[in-house]
Amino acid sequence: MIMKKFETTLITSGRDQKYTYGAINPIIQRTSSVVFNSIQQKQQAVNNHNTTDKLFYGRYGTITHFSLRQSMTELENGVGCVLYPCGTAAITHTILSFVQPGDHILITGSAYEPTQKFCRYVLKRMNIDTTLFDPLIGNDISNLIQHNTRLVILESPGSITMEVQNVPSIVQSVRKKKSDIIILLDNTWSAGVFFKALDIGVDVSLQSGTKYIIGHSDGMIGTAVSNARCWDQLQEQSYLMGQMIDADTAYMASRGLRTLYIRLKQHEENGLHVAHWLAQHPAIERVNHPALATCKGHKYFIRDFSGSSGLFSFILKKRLNDLQLSNFIDHFKYFKIAYSWGGFESLILVNQVEELRPIRPSGTLDFTGTLVRVHVGLEHPSDLIHDLSDALNRINA
Ligand SMILES: *Cc1c(COP(=O)(O)O)cnc(C)c1O
Repeated sequence: MIMKKFETTLITSGRDQKYTYGAINPIIQRTSSVVFNSIQQKQQAVNNHNTTDKLFYGRYGTITHFSLRQSMTELENGVGCVLYPCGTAAITHTILSFVQPGDHILITGSAYEPTQKFCRYVLKRMNIDTTLFDPLIGNDISNLIQHNTRLVILESPGSITMEVQNVPSIVQSVRKKKSDIIILLDNTWSAGVFFKALDIGVDVSLQSGTKYIIGHSDGMIGTAVSNARCWDQLQEQSYLMGQMIDADTAYMASRGLRTLYIRLKQHEENGLHVAHWLAQHPAIERVNHPALATCKGHKYFIRDFSGSSGLFSFILKKRLNDLQLSNFIDHFKYFKIAYSWGGFESLILVNQVEELRPIRPSGTLDFTGTLVRVHVGLEHPSDLIHDLSDALNRINA
């Protein structure tokens, strides 16, 4: 039998008759209560409540959720998926599903800031210590593993500075040193499409589906897709913590999946176009786009990823002062100043190096100019390049 191609999986997954009732899309089933016809049927539902697609109680999901969980599981080659109200909830509750007081966790110093802050402020209260490590650590991670290290949290490419991690080497070293450590990876950047975290040996692949999966900046969702060894614990613990999303948002995420591949391919093409233009601009020191040789960990990107999305950053030669900064960023036509990314539209944010210092291991920031992060949307790239060109002219760079 010929294995179906990935693009086809995104179209077909979660669309069995039992989810669609004969429509094209899964039905939207909004409910809290599930009505049982007999006490015996109710008992059966209780016994089955851990199977992923039997109705039991609304908090455990309805047909709409079952369909999306099935799709995400197929997308990321896992055995099961838990849905959360946002990406941050997916990350924090996955962590909480596996730790206990006295544990130690290792987290990449390129991780999304709220992930780091959760460890620093919430886990700390539970007597769980966190060590930040250089995202490019590779094999040397084994030197940081302690007798009580319980979790390793990766994110590749990293937030803002975009370092691509040597995930296979990190996974191998961790497994060799202490095989019961659980390895999580924030896979939002690749949307689970361009990087197959579980195939490389990661235990749980986390995503902010708020980004590319929903894809239209009009909803929030988080996903955690697990391999077999972590699935029962992740599912049960998340359920115990009351993690749940509404059926309408689950539906929007399923809908997003149908066009995910083609949107990503266009984000990739537009992003590369803009990145290459920026790379030759005299005002720019360096472009941190994983597909460009100037990005840290580029060789791992070439080896481990099958494509790039639309999010990257670049560093100006100059450090802009406050006036220059507002001149630069306040007058874009197409790039909007906003958090988040992964929708159809272009977005921009800036960071000065001192803003990044508290969320990076010491010595890993090797620049002084202002950092600009862009999400390249689905506008025509030549319009976006004009927009960026005008902005760079405004600072006489
Ligand atoms: C946005 C983001 C998150 C958090 O997602 P929310 O849905 O906003 O909670 C987590 N990780 C990465 C890499 C992100 O970009």
